[in-house]
Amino acid sequence: MNLPLDVARHQSVPEGSWQSELVRNRVIVVGSANADLVVAVDRRPGAGETVLGADTVVLPGGKGANTAVAAGKLGARVALFGAVGTDAHGQLLLDSLRNAGVDTALVRTVDRPTGIAYITVTPDGENSIIVSPGANSAVADIEPTMLDTAAVVVGSLEIPLPVVEHAMAAAAAHGARPVLNLSPATEVSAATLAVLDPLVVNEHEASWLLGGRTGAATELATELRTLGPRSVLITLGARGAVVADDQGTIEVPAPSVRAVDTTGAGDAFAGALAAALAGGAGLAEAARQASRVAAISVTKPGAQPSYPLASELGNAGT
Ligand code: ADP
Repeated sequence: MNLPLDVARHQSVPEGSWQSELVRNRVIVVGSANADLVVAVDRRPGAGETVLGADTVVLPGGKGANTAVAAGKLGARVALFGAVGTDAHGQLLLDSLRNAGVDTALVRTVDRPTGIAYITVTPDGENSIIVSPGANSAVADIEPTMLDTAAVVVGSLEIPLPVVEHAMAAAAAHGARPVLNLSPATEVSAATLAVLDPLVVNEHEASWLLGGRTGAATELATELRTLGPRSVLITLGARGAVVADDQGTIEVPAPSVRAVDTTGAGDAFAGALAAALAGGAGLAEAARQASRVAAISVTKPGAQPSYPLASELGNAGT
């Protein structure tokens, strides 16, 4: 598959050109950076119970950093707006962002512990997570001038909600496309919902936003649009995703793969989606590309290390 991403990165503007201030091809991710402390267990402990796990593996993660790394590995021009601590976990995150080609100029280093996610993974590939936000709680409002070259601004949670809502409004006011990965599901204002293009949620989050309603994903997507977003994208795990916008509602299948670890699949999806949108793809095409990238990510352990490079997409999973 040819992602239109290299186009975005290599688009050259002659020095002194009248366009030089106007090229909007950047993805800005506003979100968290966490160290993932991952332990494989046969089963999770119940209350008051102890189980033994395998050796702990420390990996760079956090929804914002994951999303930025997914886009960066695909060749998009991308920056993370976030915060880390001065500890070793913070350095691990900055290194992994830079290795993926992510601009870290907008990542502040603050006097708090870097965020940590405690993740258990069971043999079926499912994970459960506790997040300790730490430095992520210190992320403050983005300056509108930081959005000058942004084509797409992706918001994700695990940072203060008002900061995310401010970023979505600033993106809309500044001519960038606001994309919100509303995970975990949280109540956001009608004004925020109204600018989203798209609102990205998984099936559980979609149902939560609709007051616990269940049903066909296409119906949930249509229903979610009545809450205000310009478009809606529901991810459906192995079943892919559903996209709803003014053009209608379409189902996007995921390639059939053997899932090893679904940690960060939703973030891989959001990053690849943003990269494709910034590269000029329409929403349905961007969702197809994202579904493919996310499917590849579940075939390998961890979040960021499991994300494919553009050169690794090949024909895998088709
Ligand atoms: P989240 O991780 O946020 O709960 P999902 O489970 O819906 O989100 O997964 C996000 C995307 O990852 C899906 O839309 C799909 O593209 C891909 N994906 C997840 N699990 C699988 C799987 N078992 N097989 C193929 N693709 C998958």
